[in-house]
Amino acid sequence: MSDYERCKTCGEYGWTGASAARFGGHICPPTWEARIHETKYENEWTEIHARDAEEAASKFCQQHDSNGDYDIIQSGEAEIEVRKWGEDKIALIDISAESVPTYYAHRRAAPVEPETALKTAQGEPK
Ligand SMILES: [Zn+2]
Repeated sequence: MSDYERCKTCGEYGWTGASAARFGGHICPPTWEARIHETKYENEWTEIHARDAEEAASKFCQQHDSNGDYDIIQSGEAEIEVRKWGEDKIALIDISAESVPTYYAHRRAAPVEPETALKTAQGEPK
């Protein structure tokens, strides 16, 4: 059996289950560790699954902001230290951040009267 679901390890969607591996099912991206450059002596490394150092830094910021008070999105930038799990070499990644406006649409139960019908009712010329 296979299911298309969110991976509990890395958070990405993919095919999981016993038979998924045989037809190209989900494999977690490599493990990285990330932390904020400025506060590196105050905070532990955070484990992140990502394809490369830049994606690891972006994912770290997203996670850091949603678990905290959104200080990265508020300042618009951050410097993130990233290293591949088990390796000593640290890369410094510059992050620029912006929030994206989102519009939510909900149709009302009562439809709006057509404009021509409204004009006729008010006695205006057609
Ligand atoms: Zn995964």
